[in-house]
Amino acid sequence: MVVGGGRVSLDAAAVVRCRRRVHLDHDPAAVSAPRAAPDPALEQRRADAVAHREDVGRRLAGLVGPGAVADPGADAGSPGWVQVPAGPVARRQAATRAAVEAGAAYIWNAALPADVEGGRRGEVELLVRAPGRAGRAGYRPLIVVRHRVTDPGSGAITSPLARPHAEHARPDGHRRVRSHPRDQLRLAHITRMLAAMAAAPAGPAYGAVIGMDADVVVWHELSAPSWPGGHSTLTEYDVRFADRVAVASAAASGAPALAGPSRITECRRCPWWPTCEAELTTRGDVSLVLRGEDATTVRAHGVTTVAQLAALDPARPLPVPLHGMPFADAVALARALHRGLPVVRRVAEVPVPRADVEVDVDMESFGESGAYLWGALLSVPGPRADIGEPAGYRAFATWEPLPTDDEARSFAEFWGWLSGVRARCARAGLSFAAYCYNEQAENRWMLASADRFAGTPGVPPRGEVAEFIGSGQWVDMFALVSQWFLCAHGKGLKRIAPVAGFAWADPEASGENSMRWYRDAVGMDGAPPDPAQRDRLLRYNADDTSATKVLREWMCSPALAGIPLARDL
Ligand code: SF4
Repeated sequence: MVVGGGRVSLDAAAVVRCRRRVHLDHDPAAVSAPRAAPDPALEQRRADAVAHREDVGRRLAGLVGPGAVADPGADAGSPGWVQVPAGPVARRQAATRAAVEAGAAYIWNAALPADVEGGRRGEVELLVRAPGRAGRAGYRPLIVVRHRVTDPGSGAITSPLARPHAEHARPDGHRRVRSHPRDQLRLAHITRMLAAMAAAPAGPAYGAVIGMDADVVVWHELSAPSWPGGHSTLTEYDVRFADRVAVASAAASGAPALAGPSRITECRRCPWWPTCEAELTTRGDVSLVLRGEDATTVRAHGVTTVAQLAALDPARPLPVPLHGMPFADAVALARALHRGLPVVRRVAEVPVPRADVEVDVDMESFGESGAYLWGALLSVPGPRADIGEPAGYRAFATWEPLPTDDEARSFAEFWGWLSGVRARCARAGLSFAAYCYNEQAENRWMLASADRFAGTPGVPPRGEVAEFIGSGQWVDMFALVSQWFLCAHGKGLKRIAPVAGFAWADPEASGENSMRWYRDAVGMDGAPPDPAQRDRLLRYNADDTSATKVLREWMCSPALAGIPLARDL
């Protein structure tokens, strides 16, 4: 945002954003540049985050306000809980300032007055008054986020929800901090804004986070040397913020750009990707092959384009290591991209474990809430493979909204069926293999389900799940694709299965869209459950299992000979 006098005004997000994005957000010439359509999954996540914040706000208000005096040093006459009403930002800023001047103990939904001199704007879920006399005490920021902020362990500094004060924080024997630099930098941003309005407490700077579980307040000392190199969150923030202000100011004033496009992980969800992709493609930028730091590394050695990378000798690496992939792969990938090849082989024949009886498995989960659908496609390619079970797809699902104990029932049924097929194969002397695409998700939810639903009839002990995962009968096709192919446009199933000739029936098939369908399928947003969306999810899941089957059969087929070998490029 550009405010009066051409000054820029940045929110906390700018500090962790791509520098080019900050440029484009402030470049008047970019106003008409192409942008991606709004991402419905992203919008859904934002809406979920808002709902989570509102829920936590209601709980906090019940615990500490209104009228509560949780701050032992507060003046008797100062307000307890102040809820800044929703509305235009200017009105919220005025209400926040008034609450600060009145010495309110807690200010919910705060919008801080713009720090014009510093170039900052910002909002925070809660301002907590530090102990001291009204007018001199100052405030600490507390943010509410919809991700986990701790893991099991010890060492986090926490206070109870009913006592959201650094003075009540103690080392936690059950939690350790899960690292989220973005959260800490946001707290630093608000801390600097509080200082600009002379409302920051003296002494060490503290900020707090309430996470997805909303069971405790996690405190961070922002002035402690907790970052690599021994500097503090505030120091890290100051350096980053000064850089982003420089980038934005140059863009706003038409000065030479301080940040150019280069492909990074953030590009996947960035609205400016159509603009950046066109620019990167036009100049054949090397980041189309090597993203992030690796692109910076090779540029420092004069390799700025895909063509230059493709022309290098893969047997003579640059004198610095790449982190994303071996140097020879990078050269091969550049050659593939240069020739318009989506996939190349590393070897003439790709080894894929096959069996008399095969099952392709795909699981659908909803965020952190649980796994609601286990799909299994049974194939019996072996000539002797009669196990008394019809080939084809079956689904083990719960359509009660997650989280629900009915998830235990569906998982137990899936496990019972899979184990039964395995056991019958073993008794009949038939080989067995089950396949998935990227085992991390399936493994995580199989193990987590065994833990969460331990003792429920049909739910296996964790050790039984671990035995299956490590048995050699569980085959991760993603790992095989990663091992034996180089993919110029990514290795996701939606990218690679079409090369093998598979097409999803649903033109909108994607993991992100399935989240939306799930909400409708179970009536998560208040509307009645939609059976059509259940059917859609089942077809989508069935297609995912078919995709892995088609992919592995293609990898073993003569059609593979049509895929160029990397060494021949
Ligand atoms: S598309 Fe990528 S390079 Fe371009 S602004 Fe977004 S994150 Fe930055």
